[in-house]
Amino acid sequence: MTNRLRVLISADLEGVSGIVHVVETNPGGYDYERGRALMTAEVNAAVAGVLEAEPDAEVSVADAHGTFRNLLPEELDRRVRLIRGKPRPLGMMAGLEAGVDAVLFIGYHARAGAGPGVLAHTISDAVLDVRLDGESVGEIGLNAALAGHFGVPVVLGSGDDAACAELGALVPDAVTVEVKRALGQAAAETLHPEEARDRIRRSAAEAIRRRDRVPPLSTSGPVETEIDLYGPYTVDLATLVPGVWRAPGGRTVTFTGRDILQAYRLIQLVVQLGQIKPG
Ligand SMILES: [Zn+2]
Repeated sequence: MTNRLRVLISADLEGVSGIVHVVETNPGGYDYERGRALMTAEVNAAVAGVLEAEPDAEVSVADAHGTFRNLLPEELDRRVRLIRGKPRPLGMMAGLEAGVDAVLFIGYHARAGAGPGVLAHTISDAVLDVRLDGESVGEIGLNAALAGHFGVPVVLGSGDDAACAELGALVPDAVTVEVKRALGQAAAETLHPEEARDRIRRSAAEAIRRRDRVPPLSTSGPVETEIDLYGPYTVDLATLVPGVWRAPGGRTVTFTGRDILQAYRLIQLVVQLGQIKPG
């Protein structure tokens, strides 16, 4: 065992400064190479802030966008460990299972249906909404709840104003860094990347220093989960999984997770099924 502070940075791309369009976030798309470089630089800014506050911290970075292979390994701060590739049981939050003390969300975006929010969605375009015990949640809510299951607080989140508001509503004591203001699903007024990085670095240091004031989200007991899916075929596939049921209306599947960890894993599976076309 070590007494060093352990920090997990979960890094997405839609909420990075300068990014407004989906092609900038998809491999092969116009400006994707720029997008992943901007993402890498924002992660490095967060790492610098964490290590400024706590020089001995062990920092892991989970690449948490799309393929989970976006961050440029050779451009990352060499003091971190990079978690890369998929699938993996804890998805965007891989690394939690190793035991961490604090989580930071970098480049995050608002949930599907929240708007305006730059590239607002929940995990995939196959999903219209996810509800846990009746409450609509996005990736911020799901990932903060999963961290809570492991007893870990989310101490900082960066992204557009909609993402910051979403985290602020769930974890009022978390530090938020607004790097752009959403004007729509694919439009924003954005900070200069260097200004965004300065703010992220300063805020990450602050968030680490005041981490003890941020409680983990409390999660306990079974989680009633509902997923509204875009495609009826995905509903058909999802109901092949034991314990997953079709709700009236035809677009929604429901299941009861034993806890948020089990629900989280099943949500990931159902979303993956959305990529399968009728055979
Ligand atoms: Zn993403």
